Amino acid sequence: MNIFQLLDNSARRYGTIGAVYRGGDLILGFDRLRERALLLAAKLGRYGRPGDRVMIASKNRPEIIEIMFGIWAAGMVAVPMNAKLHAREMADIAADCSPVLILASPPIARDLGPFFGAMPLIEIGGASYDAMMEGEGGAAADVRPDDLAWLFYTSGTTGRSKGAMLTHRNLMAMTIAHRADFDPVRSGSSLIHAAPMSHGSGLYMLPYIAGGARQVIPASGAFDAADFLELCKVHPRVAAFLAPTMVQRLRLEREASGVVPENLHLIIYGGGPMYVSELRRSLAAFGQNFAQLYGQGEAPMTITGLRREDHATDDESILGSVGWPRSGVEVAVVDADGQALPPGAIGEIICRGDVVMAGYWKNPAATADALRDGWLRTGDMGSFDEKGCLTLRDRSKDVIISGGTNIYPREVEEALLAHPDVAEAAVIGEPDEEWGENVVAYVVAVPGRSIDLTSLDAHCLDRIARFKRPKKYRILPELPKSSYGKVLKRELAEPGTDIPR
Ligand code: AMP
Repeated sequence: MNIFQLLDNSARRYGTIGAVYRGGDLILGFDRLRERALLLAAKLGRYGRPGDRVMIASKNRPEIIEIMFGIWAAGMVAVPMNAKLHAREMADIAADCSPVLILASPPIARDLGPFFGAMPLIEIGGASYDAMMEGEGGAAADVRPDDLAWLFYTSGTTGRSKGAMLTHRNLMAMTIAHRADFDPVRSGSSLIHAAPMSHGSGLYMLPYIAGGARQVIPASGAFDAADFLELCKVHPRVAAFLAPTMVQRLRLEREASGVVPENLHLIIYGGGPMYVSELRRSLAAFGQNFAQLYGQGEAPMTITGLRREDHATDDESILGSVGWPRSGVEVAVVDADGQALPPGAIGEIICRGDVVMAGYWKNPAATADALRDGWLRTGDMGSFDEKGCLTLRDRSKDVIISGGTNIYPREVEEALLAHPDVAEAAVIGEPDEEWGENVVAYVVAVPGRSIDLTSLDAHCLDRIARFKRPKKYRILPELPKSSYGKVLKRELAEPGTDIPR
């Protein structure tokens, strides 16, 4: 079972119906997309064999779809890289996975030269790329479900980037779970790739190709809130994966511009915490058109989730949770010895099922650490309630231990964000001789407002236990974030960070 079949089936069924769009413009129908992917696959055979890696270094552009399916048709392994990485970081990934070819967009191709030496490199959209689309295509390679399809380099927020090995089975399980839980996907729908296709948005390409939906790549190749709202008027029944920070930007743009995204159908958010105060504001702005995913590169986008209908509540214990186990995924919360914990008890979240990766590329030590007896240890802490709804606390290494008591930063961040002047908040523990660690809050003001720390402190005292309340507050113009928009807490903790008080 080759994941390429998803495109193969849709090409037969939907023929000339539009599959790929740049902004509002049709680029390819399903039949042409399949044809081009097979032509590319035939040419990739000149560079390597099934199982070999092909790297992609590009911001979002229409060709990425034919490239991904071309790589799978060739039985090879796609290694999409975050376009915002430094050429040196891309070279590190190449050294790790030794690709037979790299396909790069023109600006990145120029930067890569000095770092990649003699490695074959083709500029996407250039003459050599066009030449790959000539001649005859063949049939798709026959692969086994456990063969690798995607080497998914983790964002590295917790250290060096590792290559999660995703198989055809993993990607199929993720595709089926999305259609079962969040969106059945029918022809006449669209997926806007607003977030990087090298990561979450690229994974969602699969259920939407399988369902005969349009893939829409914004003309700029990047997320722009105003452009996104306009695209929601042009394309039918729009779905998109957005990181929580992007949801906030979209909501602010919607409020400021008054533009109504008429065809917005589903915003799938996740990959980082969505705070309850923001979720409520976004629900008010866009209606009940949301689904939340909790997942990791290691179990691509699929551990637990909140479905659209789960959002029809004001219950904070649900809106602040990560929801229920996804279809085909078993989830448990365990103690340090791996024993399952009862509802209410906080422990490490583990999961198993067909979505769980095969391991980390060439890294047996990290693999043995992450995969035990078929279970993936997520490194996230959480607890179930009586109804089986999971609340994520924090990654185990982010938990603050002050005076021997565990304090979960997320809870303090939720309290801070409920203050009308606070736009962003991140809470960390800072070493302290007496307490072990102290709670320190970094906050960013809502544009045009200023934060009064006395009022913020009183607000926290009103909402959370005294011992959880930040001992220090620091106001920053913005929080340090990774290129995927995740807050980099370790940079907040670094000595020498410029901290205006
Ligand atoms: P990555 O592998 O880079 O996508 O990061 C995965 C991590 O992001 C998870 O282990 C969680 O710590 C965090 N994460 C993912 N989804 C959510 C969510 N819905 N809410 C809070 N944190 C999340």
